[in-house]
Amino acid sequence: MKDVLDREELAVDMNPVISKMFNTEHEQVVFCQDKSSGLKAIIAIHNTTLGPALGGTRMWNYNNELEALNDVLRLSRGMTFKASISGLNLGGGKAVIIGDSYTQKSEALFRRFGKFVESLSGKYITAEDVGISPKDMEWVNMETTHVSGLPESLGGSGDPSPVTAYGVYMGMKAAAKEQYGSDALEGKKVTVQGVGHVGEALVKHLSKEGAIVTIADINQERVAAIAKKYGTRVIEGDAIYDGDMDIYAPCALGATLNDDTIDRLKCNIVAGAANNQLLDEKIHGRRLMEKGVVYAPDFLINAGGLINVYREVEGISEARAMELTENIYHTTTDIFKKSAKEGLTPQIAAMKIAEERIEAIAKIKSVL
Ligand code: NAD
Repeated sequence: MKDVLDREELAVDMNPVISKMFNTEHEQVVFCQDKSSGLKAIIAIHNTTLGPALGGTRMWNYNNELEALNDVLRLSRGMTFKASISGLNLGGGKAVIIGDSYTQKSEALFRRFGKFVESLSGKYITAEDVGISPKDMEWVNMETTHVSGLPESLGGSGDPSPVTAYGVYMGMKAAAKEQYGSDALEGKKVTVQGVGHVGEALVKHLSKEGAIVTIADINQERVAAIAKKYGTRVIEGDAIYDGDMDIYAPCALGATLNDDTIDRLKCNIVAGAANNQLLDEKIHGRRLMEKGVVYAPDFLINAGGLINVYREVEGISEARAMELTENIYHTTTDIFKKSAKEGLTPQIAAMKIAEERIEAIAKIKSVL
């Protein structure tokens, strides 16, 4: 067993990703490794002021550990803002498993991961995210009770994706009201990037309302099936950023709003499900605003799934969860008002409200 770091390894301490962990004030970051099952995972707990840190586990073939760490730090911080702005008593956390979700899954890997989750004694509650299936979570659940969003047959609240999509749809309508003076999406050209669990459910709402929907996905089979089912158009590859659209709905992965894409986008609204859509929340949020694009903050409008999972933690009814999700429309409207009044981008305005709630609750907790 190797126990001494060499010079090169020590230099990693200076890596900006690692210093970011301290700058973003994460409470705890756990590196998990198990040779026999091949598990390599990172669990990041950002803030537990409001309650246990809840956030999904993502399985992704990261190029290296630092890329995975960067992702989990960004994602867990986003969960803190999401829970706070949605009025939930939850903190922010997330986990990533480093590996190929098509070839590296096994019962042993997920059960070992479950043991790591259990070792945190409920401070972190996991759920499904990109690359993870209900079956995988069943295995995790064999080793820990701190799993949410399980299938209804196992006593869980089921797939959160349709509720997430409904919240995104509400947020998109609020953005349309802000940009066009009406929240009707009929006749609006909407491009949905990523037609997975959430993307497809969003396409369904949009098609029902009479929006002109275009879809994109790297999974050719899936894109063809969804296009056939809903009669949508298809756009391929990078061309999506130059496409003719009123509304861009990123529902695949994050950071698609960046130096390259913002200049190319011709839309006047961005509203989608993907987490961390802005590569840099300050710079790219401001650039969209200067371009006259109404941006609906991702962590606010994609909170439906978290709200649905919250049913399992707090025991609220399904009806109440839907009410809270529908309310995303009004919260998004309030954020646009705050943004206009204070000259802030919607992203920063939403983050401020989320932070203020956490600070206020931290104060009352300290005197209890
Ligand atoms: P998913 O894995 O079911 O779907 C993602 C889809 O995006 C897949 O079909 C995939 O092929 C496609 N994709 C990946 N890279 C792409 C690219 N470069 N271009 C086009 N398509 C691409 O995931 P999901 O559950 O639908 O979640 C979508 C996004 O929403 C993720 O960023 C997730 O973190 C976020 N989100 C999901 C939920 C939820 O309830 N599922 C909640 C909040 C946020």
